[in-house]
Amino acid sequence: MTSNDLRTKYLNFFKKKGHAIIPSASLIPENDPSVLFTTAGMHPLVPFLLGEKHPAGQRLVNYQKCLRTSDIDEVGDNHHLTFFEMLGNWSLGDLAAPDGIGGAGYWKKEAINWSWEFLTDKKWLNLDPDKFAVSIFAGDEDSPFDQESFAIWKKIGFSENKIAKLDKEENWWPASGHQLGPQGPCTEIFYWTGDKPVPEKFDLKNNYWFEIWNDVFMQYNKIDEYQFVPLKQKNVDTGMGLERTLVALNELNNVYEIDTLRPILDKIIVLSAAKTKNKAMRIIADHLRAAVFIIADGVIPSNVKQGYVLRRLLRRVIRYNKDIGFPKDSLSELVKIVIKTNKEYYPELEKNEKLIINEIEKEENKFNETLEKGLKKIAKFPVGYKITGKDTFALSATFGFPPEMTIEEAKARHLSVNEEKIMKEFKEEFQKHQKLSRTASVGMFKGGLAGQSEIIIKYHTATHLLHAALRQILGDHVEQKGSNITDERLRFDFSHSEKLTSEEIKKVEDLVNKKIKENLPVIYQEMSLVDAQKSGAIGLFANKYGDKVKVYTIKGFSKEICGGPHVVRTGELGNFKITKEEASSAGIRRIKAILQ
Ligand code: ATP
Ligand code: MG
Repeated sequence: MTSNDLRTKYLNFFKKKGHAIIPSASLIPENDPSVLFTTAGMHPLVPFLLGEKHPAGQRLVNYQKCLRTSDIDEVGDNHHLTFFEMLGNWSLGDLAAPDGIGGAGYWKKEAINWSWEFLTDKKWLNLDPDKFAVSIFAGDEDSPFDQESFAIWKKIGFSENKIAKLDKEENWWPASGHQLGPQGPCTEIFYWTGDKPVPEKFDLKNNYWFEIWNDVFMQYNKIDEYQFVPLKQKNVDTGMGLERTLVALNELNNVYEIDTLRPILDKIIVLSAAKTKNKAMRIIADHLRAAVFIIADGVIPSNVKQGYVLRRLLRRVIRYNKDIGFPKDSLSELVKIVIKTNKEYYPELEKNEKLIINEIEKEENKFNETLEKGLKKIAKFPVGYKITGKDTFALSATFGFPPEMTIEEAKARHLSVNEEKIMKEFKEEFQKHQKLSRTASVGMFKGGLAGQSEIIIKYHTATHLLHAALRQILGDHVEQKGSNITDERLRFDFSHSEKLTSEEIKKVEDLVNKKIKENLPVIYQEMSLVDAQKSGAIGLFANKYGDKVKVYTIKGFSKEICGGPHVVRTGELGNFKITKEEASSAGIRRIKAILQ
């Protein structure tokens, strides 16, 4: 079975069950600056999971391109990719039965039974029911055991040996329950991919068990560090991995053998004149495919944000190409395969073919100039040498080595590596350098992604001023709901139910301009999320739990959690003007503004 077959079947199956087909969103989240990439099918749907009405209704289905940089170190194993596709079906509060167990509505019983029907019914995927195992949420001090899912799987015919009861790390989404936002227990479906007979008991640690599908039951909204409140609307959110399911369907044992990845590997073998496939080739195939999709969604290599991730992926490809003797200037051959195998469902690839090839070639040429020298530099460190953040910064600044690459090389050469410390020092060096170059007006980001030019940085800071001014003038109920910046304007969505009067607009404008005139310093600090919240910082907390966060303070006026970068003083912004005020959706207003 091919990727196209599977996508079509999935959409058709759920269409028959009353779902509306919605399109795959961009890999770059449109209104959520808190994460760089779309990491799951549910991600673009968050506002609707929180209760906003979706125009297509309460039952939705789609295929969604996803990217998880957090899985980059797993790439090369049998089942983790950075770029992959998720097939998803949702119930947005489509519950008829008041007990929440299901009935005429769409909750656990429906979701699980439909997953099972799609996987095993002869008309659909026809997979062997005996090769499955599942996991469910065991319960803990905050949240109860998922008795309903347990009962449903048992009724389907699963023995208790094949139902693992696991904690929030495994059976909660988003994992661990630390993150803020909509969430709940999940049940995961595994398929046996080993040659040996299916073991009697399901063991998560055995890698022949492939997790292919996750059915999440969103019952809670986590509103701060301590509070899980029941979600106003209960949702079903499922995600089936396209690549992994194709492994099951075609009786393979790894994702690199499926119809969209195998041709890339085959081509790598031919071009590099190698005889056998290896891990480096898997990494090249995965990263290159990811890069093609990222560029098609409008990102080009740079030193910040998505552009930096793209650069990191491409430079890792170029690095491994050297190991396997892949000829220079041949990556376009691989790009063409990615486009050919995906163009039917992702027309943006073919539309951007020239741009994609061009950007990848540019990056290859650039990095090939320094790759060799950087590797030689690393080779000079004696075995056991304790590599520092300063070393990684020097390698990054001089030879364009992303710090993660230097760490990888250092490990391979048996240098002493303390990853966390190195990355911390690297960031400190980077910040120092950024400050220096900014005062010298040589912006580190110059020449990078258009999205990070000086004007964009100015708009970032103007957004903070606007946010604070709105809260001061309209009230503390104003919260950021989205932000989008181009080099021509800023766009800011915020919670507020009425149209702003022209008087209010004028007041907001005046206050922002007053703060610009005061030429206030923009101060940067790093702290734990808890400290940031205690200090009264506002901003998007989702996805930031556990990490150090950056807090930008505009003296006496604004304090926000934000990734930056920002101008050094507000006086750099010029004149601020609101050009439009309109409704964005129910309870949310949208402002567009320019700097003149
Ligand atoms: P794993 O534990 O194997 O990393 P996960 O629990 O992180 O998976 P989910 O977040 O539940 O996965 O994602 C839903 C589905 O998406 C998974 O069941 C799987 O089929 C697929 N998936 C998740 N991560 C990857 C990946 N890195 N590469 C390919 N498919 C993936
Ligand atoms: Mg994972």
